[in-house]
Parts: sequence; C-alpha cells; structure tokens
Amino acid sequence: MATYDVIVIGSGPGGYVCAIRCAQLGLRTACVEGRETLGGTCLNVGCIPSKALLHATEQLHEAQENFAKMGLKGAAPSVDWKRMQSYKQDVVEQNTKGVEFLFKKNKVDWLKGWAEIPEAGRVKVGEEVHEARNVVIATGSEASALPFAEVDNDGGVIVDSEGALRLPRIPKAMAVIGGGVIGLELSSVYARLGAEVTVLEYAAGITPGMDAEVARQFQKIMAKQGISFVTGAAVEAVERKGRKATVRWKLRKDGGEGEAQVDAVLVATGRRPFTEGLGLDALGVEMTDRGQVKVRDHWDTNVPGLYAIGDCIEGPMLAHKAEDEGMAVAEAIAKGHGHVNYRVIPNVIYTAPEVAAVGLTEEQAKDGGREVKVGKFAFMGNGRARANFAAEGFVKIVADAETDRILGAHIVGPMAGDLIHEIAVAMEFGAAAEDLARTCHAHPTYSEAVREAALACGDGAIHA
Ligand code: FAD
Repeated sequence: MATYDVIVIGSGPGGYVCAIRCAQLGLRTACVEGRETLGGTCLNVGCIPSKALLHATEQLHEAQENFAKMGLKGAAPSVDWKRMQSYKQDVVEQNTKGVEFLFKKNKVDWLKGWAEIPEAGRVKVGEEVHEARNVVIATGSEASALPFAEVDNDGGVIVDSEGALRLPRIPKAMAVIGGGVIGLELSSVYARLGAEVTVLEYAAGITPGMDAEVARQFQKIMAKQGISFVTGAAVEAVERKGRKATVRWKLRKDGGEGEAQVDAVLVATGRRPFTEGLGLDALGVEMTDRGQVKVRDHWDTNVPGLYAIGDCIEGPMLAHKAEDEGMAVAEAIAKGHGHVNYRVIPNVIYTAPEVAAVGLTEEQAKDGGREVKVGKFAFMGNGRARANFAAEGFVKIVADAETDRILGAHIVGPMAGDLIHEIAVAMEFGAAAEDLARTCHAHPTYSEAVREAALACGDGAIHA
C-alpha cells in the first residue's frame, strides 16, 4: 500500500492543477484518472476540442465572407470534415500529453483506474488501496439527460456535447435543445459548416443569467449568422428514425405546437455533478439537494481530510473556476489557507463575436439595491474593429454611482474573452471606472473600446 500526503481523484482542470500545486508545495501527491488520457472533460471533450472546431470554422467563415472584400482572390476553401476532426484530435492530444509531461516533471503519480473511497483516508483503485492524509474529490460533471431523448453519441443522430464534437457527417439540418453556452458554441460551428440550425430554448431568451442587453444583442447577431431561435419552447419529444430525428415542442406562452425534421439533435440542457462510484453515501458525505458535494470555506467536506472542488461542487461549471479551487485547496492543505474570489470569475462564450462577462450585471446590481452608472461603447467607433470586419457589439461597464467602483463588465465583440481580463484585474484591485479611463491604451487596439466604455462612465466617450 502506497502512502501519500494527497490523493486527488479526477484529472480535469480542477484535479490536475490541484495535484501539480500540491507537489510544488512539497506534498507527496497522486492523481487518479479513470479515462485513458489526463485532462478531464475540458481537455478531452469540452473546452479544447470545441475551441478547435470554433477556430477552424471561423477561419472558413472569414475566407467565405471577407477575403474577397480585402482583394484576396482564389478558390474558395471546401470542408474536409475528416481532416478537421483529426486536427481537433491532434490539439486534444497535445494538451492531454502536456498534462502527462507536467505530472512527470512535478513527480505526481498517475494512478490509472476508477477510484473509490472505502473509508476516510483511503482510496481504492482497481485492487490496490492507497493511503492519504488528504483526499480531494475533483470528479467533475456529466451532460444532463432528457427523459424522452435517448442520447447515442456513437449513433451520431441524438447526441450530447460529446457526440456533437464528433458527428459522423455534417448535418443538413440540426436542432439544438438549450440556448446556453455549449449549445450556442456548437450551433455556431455547424451553422458555419452550412447546417440549418434551430436552437430551442425553454426560457424567454438565450443565455439566461447574462446581462439582458448583451443577451438580446448576441441573439440578434447569431440570428443574422443564420441560426434560428425558438424561445419559450418546451421540447416534449425527440424521436429517431434511422439517420433522421423529429423534435416536437410546445410554446409556453400559448401552447402552439412546433416540429422539426433534422439529421442531428444536440441535447445541451446543462450539466450535472458526477460523483458516481466513489462511495460517498456510505462515507456519510453531505451533499446539496442538487447532488453536489457540500463544502465549507476551505473546500473541506464534513468528513475530516476529505475535500472537493470543481464542477462537482457549487458554483459556475467553468474550467478556470475549477483550476482556481484546485490551487486554493492545495494551499489550504499545505499552508492552512487558500483563496478564490468568486465575485471576479469571468465567463466567456467563444462564438464570433465572443461574449464575455465578469462581476454583476446591471440587473443584479440594481436588484441588490445599488445605484449604478453604466458606460457603453460600440465597436463601430473602434478603428481596429472596423478594419477587421469586427465592428458588431459593444462594451458595457457597470460602476457604483457614488464611488465609481467597477461592479461588472459585459462585452459582446471581437476578442471579448481576452478583453474582459483587463477589467477583471481592475476589479481585483478595487479600481474605479476612472482608473481604467485614465490608463493609456495603445492605438489601434480593441482594448480602446474598454477604455471608451470607462470614459462613458464619467465625462463621456470620445469616439461615440
Ligand atoms: P472534469 O473536467 O469533468 O474532470 C473530471 C475527471 O474526473 C474526468 O476526467 C473523469 O474521468 C474523472 N473521474 C470521475 N470520477 C472518477 C473516479 N471515480 N475515479 C477516477 N477518475 C474519475 N469551461 C470553460 O471554462 N471554458 C470553456 O470554453 C468550456 N467549454 C466547454 C465545452 C464543452 C463542450 C463542455 C462539455 C464543457 C465546457 N466547459 C468549459 C466546462 C469545463 O469543461 C468544466 O467546467 C471543467 O472541465 C470542470 O473541471 P473539473 O476538474 O471539475 O472536472
């Protein structure tokens, strides 16, 4: 029996980051992973492969829409779906192998197999039982199911996000159930590849929880790109017949019925925490009523020496939130304290244009009883964005009306996922909108739009 200071269960962004940081802090560490490769959902079937397909199809779109406008002539590119899939798989492999290399470099043992926790301080992998003073559960999440839609990812007709990343062929028509981040990113991929995509969303608008103005603008832009939206739609049946499927829904407002015949149905109705097979019930681990492991201030559970992080606990299901918790719990174990600022966790949708947010929406700030001021700037007034055919969208900064402190920011526009971090850093330092407005920004960059939005919180933007 091997003895460790820490055993981390799961090697997603929460688990592998935690294991590396534990080892760097001098703890003898192992990480258990049941998959064939390290990196969890994110690297294998989530963030990374989806971004590879988004990148490839965005390039295609750029070539089809904008090359000729810039005087770039020649044969239009055609799509080799098999080759695009292997490019995606190469990217995945580089990343998962990268984690394997980092484990070796930092002397983290990879225990291959599915873990159980037979008793506190012990982890069973296959027939072997290992001892650890601390055990961190980082087992992630899985796609939620719909009782009437039988997902068969290998079949390639009714799929969840995992199947949608490897459809056997590009569908002519596709229905996407759920207008959240994952549904919209994959809608974007297939719409650019020529599929007729219909997004069916139960709520009144897409991306529920997002700043309302940004969500409306984003939906308009996606619709202009050819994606159809049916909002307020309760999907009631999904039936497969051979290589086709029929989706039926009822409109919530008036009971009106709708139906679509498609080649692929993506069920993207969210994700749920995954802790199966660990034996948490028998251990008496407290869970939330949503099936998450219940943790306290230092990600510790009610069982001494047992911690949990990432998608299997409360909070946004995001890779970087899991990573931050991974580092923080390592510090908590090694040094007695760790820290994550849950008020400053960016959220990004990697469509074109991108959508990004950090902190409070205007609605949340007002509902919380704050007086706010809002500074907005449209990318139409940004020279770089106009040159790059990327002038759709805007930056919106929400600041406290009295103190000018930045409470949140919301961007729909080019490179929004990168731009948002300037504001996240400012928020971490407790900056006022004026601090951003008085910071010199290089010209011509998209980031000037952020500065202009900050200026709009004060005496006004220049180029509006
Ligand atoms: P996971 O990444 O789910 O990893 C958990 C690992 O634990 C898995 O590898 C699993 O095999 C292993 N495991 C489970 N049980 C056991 C056991 N008993 N024994 C051994 N191993 C076990 N987030 C972003 O921030 N940005 C994005 O762009 C983004 N895009 C996404 C796109 C898609 C299509 C999907 C599905 C998700 C996306 N996400 C994105 C979400 C992101 O993938 C998750 O938030 C993140 O992976 C959570 O990390 P984690 O470490 O908690 O768990």
